[in-house]
Amino acid sequence: MAASQGSSDTPVNIDALLQETRRFEPPLDFVANANVRDATVYQRAHDDPEGFWADAASRLDWFKPWDRVLEWNAPWAKWFVGGQLNASYNCVDRHTKTWRRNKAALIWEGEPGDTRVLTYRDLYREVNRFASVLLDLGVRRGDVVAFYMPMIPELAIGLLACARIGAPHTVIFGGFSAEALRDRINDSKATLCVTADGGWRRGNVIALKDVTDAAVAQCPSIEHVLVFQRLGPDVREVAMEEGRDIWLHEAAESTTRRVVEPEHMESEDPLYIMYTSGTTGKPKGQMHTTGGYLTGVSLTHEWIFDLKEDDVYWCTADIGWVTGHSYIVYGPLANGATVVMYEGAPDFPDKDRFWALVEKYGVSILYTAPTSIRTFMRWGPRYVEKRDLSSLRLLGTVGEPINPEAWIWYNEFIGGGRCPIVDTWWQTETGMIMISPLPGVVATKPGSATLPFPGVEADILDEAGQSVPTNAGGNLVIKRPWPAMSRTIWGDPERYAATYWKRYPGLYLTGDGARRDDEGYFWLLGRVDDVLNVSGHRIGTMEVESALVSHPAVAEAAVIGASDAVTGQAIIAFVTPRGGYTPNDALTAELKEHVVRSIGALARPKKIYYTAELPKTRSAKIMRRLLRDIAEGRVLGDTSTLLDPNVVAQIKDQYEGNEG
Ligand code: ATP
Ligand code: MG
Repeated sequence: MAASQGSSDTPVNIDALLQETRRFEPPLDFVANANVRDATVYQRAHDDPEGFWADAASRLDWFKPWDRVLEWNAPWAKWFVGGQLNASYNCVDRHTKTWRRNKAALIWEGEPGDTRVLTYRDLYREVNRFASVLLDLGVRRGDVVAFYMPMIPELAIGLLACARIGAPHTVIFGGFSAEALRDRINDSKATLCVTADGGWRRGNVIALKDVTDAAVAQCPSIEHVLVFQRLGPDVREVAMEEGRDIWLHEAAESTTRRVVEPEHMESEDPLYIMYTSGTTGKPKGQMHTTGGYLTGVSLTHEWIFDLKEDDVYWCTADIGWVTGHSYIVYGPLANGATVVMYEGAPDFPDKDRFWALVEKYGVSILYTAPTSIRTFMRWGPRYVEKRDLSSLRLLGTVGEPINPEAWIWYNEFIGGGRCPIVDTWWQTETGMIMISPLPGVVATKPGSATLPFPGVEADILDEAGQSVPTNAGGNLVIKRPWPAMSRTIWGDPERYAATYWKRYPGLYLTGDGARRDDEGYFWLLGRVDDVLNVSGHRIGTMEVESALVSHPAVAEAAVIGASDAVTGQAIIAFVTPRGGYTPNDALTAELKEHVVRSIGALARPKKIYYTAELPKTRSAKIMRRLLRDIAEGRVLGDTSTLLDPNVVAQIKDQYEGNEG
């Protein structure tokens, strides 16, 4: 026996479940009531994509109708040309004209347990007041506003206030360093930075204002810093620089406008800039525009999450990522949904906090990330079982490929076996979900994001640009423009064209590898940069990692290829063991055999290293490129978005110790 079976939480016999339930049909009672029950939408959208997207755009309120649905001059797209609208009007005002004015728009809980509920009418008042403050500070249409905030309602309110006056926003995740904040502000040339005196994370104060001060000292474009009082002077006193820094509550108190008329924005006017996670290199500032973006996120949110009027919807992402922009703020609020927002950590005060929130607010739709699900698995089901999760009816995941074990655990322990799971593939660049089941009509398979959304045409190409045969891996591309696509990299159109549109002219290169099974389902294999080439065979990192994680001793795994004189590349695995398992040579041998049994001898890892944590971005994606840099003895590449530099240093020491 390689390792002791110490964990009392080993949940279910995953192997048996995987054998039995490769395919999950949507539950019948779910289908009977689903928003999309008719699979002919796929064909309709395929036959007339512009008509399909024009219908989708009609769900929004436009001040002026568009003249042309699409102008496409690859790689430059313009959607709903000539149309005018305002995102804040669509997310707020129009709901206050119906009974929804008294519907909860945001249900917020702070980490210490304080709560706020804002109806759509409350949101309307707050957004107008915030917009008025922005005008008082001299912010005008076209000026960029940076946000460096905790997960509090004022972040969502601030974004909508910017949208109201036509000022593009750029949100920098509140966990980033002063350097990362400075670089993004300087890249975007923001004139105002909105921050807070702090926030709560795992019981500790996050000193956002101090970091902001350090950053903006080197940001010549910044004129003012607007500060929300989250903590107050009893918790933490912050320095305010005379003339530059303004308290939001004081400015809101003294501003005189009650209503700020929403600007009539052109459909193609910028709504925001969002930087990618930097998993594969230097972050890229994606520019999203107004009409097409709002159309895409609104439709996908309603169809993929099967949104109903009385749903309580919770996306656990931070608004600092694109997921939070599209599926906490713009999609759900455009749809008049009730959105739960939580400030803090999932394990504070205890590891059942998420499930306590689901129970307390009756959350019915939950959208989270595979990396979180693997963490919950590691903690064990006892934290879940303490709570009543019977309000849940649909689950979603995003951010990384979900390994089948995590999928099944999510289905069993969170969904109680009754909730469809939507595995949603998309990117900062795509703005909206691109590959995902429609939960009323598409059967799911653990580990597959299933099918492109109606109107999205995806393909998998080989090096020569031909579609690959069934089950062969290749480059995932999108063959037609879609309304929520990024229009450019902020200030660097050449880089945009070169990164995404040059490899296959006129087609969007996602940078991800994928294969398609005999039913046409898409299986994401990981990033193309990460794909392994062993003796001329291409193996996805995802496949080997998923095999490793299916062993009961393994909580998480990252796999890379390091150059090898014999095989071209040798597979090196970095493994985080589950609680109760002690790494030793016997376990290493067993894991190697386990991979061989699951995939084949070619995939046998040459070396396995054990590590308490894997290097991740602050958006929780595994940064394999840094592991490759370590394995090949290179200087580490861009580490500005790395969560914890110590993790990499420790792995480096261990690696070099072993090699030498
Ligand atoms: P950078 O582009 O700077 O390297 P990034 O790609 O990590 O950073 P994001 O836009 O946040 O930045 O992440 C998008 C990527 O996340 C996708 O390209 C894909 O690799 C991965 N991803 C997201 N959702 C899924 C999913 N459901 N299944 C598989 N992979 C996913
Ligand atoms: Mg990317």
